[in-house]
Amino acid sequence: MPRDVTKWIKQYARALGFDLVGVAPVQSPPHAESFLLWLAQGYAGVMDYLERTAGLRINPAAILPNARSAIVVGLNYAPAELPPTDYRIARYALGDDYHAVIREKLETLLCAIQALEPEAQGRICVDSAPVLERDLAMLAGLGWYGKNTCLINTQRGSYFFIGVLLLTMELEYDSPAQGGCGTCRLCLDACPTGALIAPYRLDARKCISYLTIELREAIPVEHREPMGEWLFGCDICQEVCPFNRPRVHQPMRAQPTREPRLQPRSLPKLAEILQMREADFAERFRGSAIKRAKWRGLIRNALIIAGNKRDPALRPLIEPFLRHEDPMLREAAEWAIKQATKEQAVGRASSGNATANSGDSSLRSE
Ligand code: SF4
Repeated sequence: MPRDVTKWIKQYARALGFDLVGVAPVQSPPHAESFLLWLAQGYAGVMDYLERTAGLRINPAAILPNARSAIVVGLNYAPAELPPTDYRIARYALGDDYHAVIREKLETLLCAIQALEPEAQGRICVDSAPVLERDLAMLAGLGWYGKNTCLINTQRGSYFFIGVLLLTMELEYDSPAQGGCGTCRLCLDACPTGALIAPYRLDARKCISYLTIELREAIPVEHREPMGEWLFGCDICQEVCPFNRPRVHQPMRAQPTREPRLQPRSLPKLAEILQMREADFAERFRGSAIKRAKWRGLIRNALIIAGNKRDPALRPLIEPFLRHEDPMLREAAEWAIKQATKEQAVGRASSGNATANSGDSSLRSE
């Protein structure tokens, strides 16, 4: 009986558009201890909600009494092509907010299961209910932990969302995923802020995703230049990962998403963002994960990127923030202007050197 029901549930989940589906028994997550240690070491920065919900995260049965099974689904979000922009956005945030997309599909799945098994109770977890999703996904066979701390599926890479449906039903369980990075350490070497402090260990306080999305204060100066053009989130540790790169013999890797609501939306130019009022921001990014940064955070990020671009055309758009009532935005604008000035100073210095050199060469030629 569990086998037939499990098979039916998996088929139904795939028909709903999920790319991966597996089932794990509800148990204490294997990485519960290391998660608690990571929190205790302060690597979560200002993400207090992780601390507040830690007890639930390491005990999924507390979220749904009598939970027996976790149906874990994966939804691919890799775009076929990156949209043309003059900055970077993490791939997962290019389309509609995934929370709504996954929740809706899992609600449909739960209704279908309850039509078949009216006694079954379920609880959907897509970030809103705190579970260690990656641990459950690993147990359900969806993927294994990479050194970049992402869950990696050997065939599909790591560009997929994870959703969990806890159920009180007994089902047939998958085997945990097998795989590993071997000697590769491309992501550790590529991270521009050094946030991957060791294999499988992320200091979120240095991570560009955290800095551009979660942090509500000024971004520490030492991380601003390494941010480059990342306006919201960062994909560098996934972009360099060989499991996300299509190969001749493994064309499945990082296939584009089939989900219509995850297709990239059109994005405003950086100049438009710098002129966006708060009301425009809410309207422009309605239903998008980008809203999480809030207007203030996105403008702060945009000012830093404008500073990194050192484009004189952006200066008139930075200058109004020098008089802004918000000290965080004022300071970011000051920094951005200084960056441009720094470039000009460097330019002048190097042209001075060129003159000196040519002077030397003319002396030599005499
Ligand atoms: Fe593992 Fe290499 Fe991918 Fe990093 S880039 S997650 S080390 S395979």
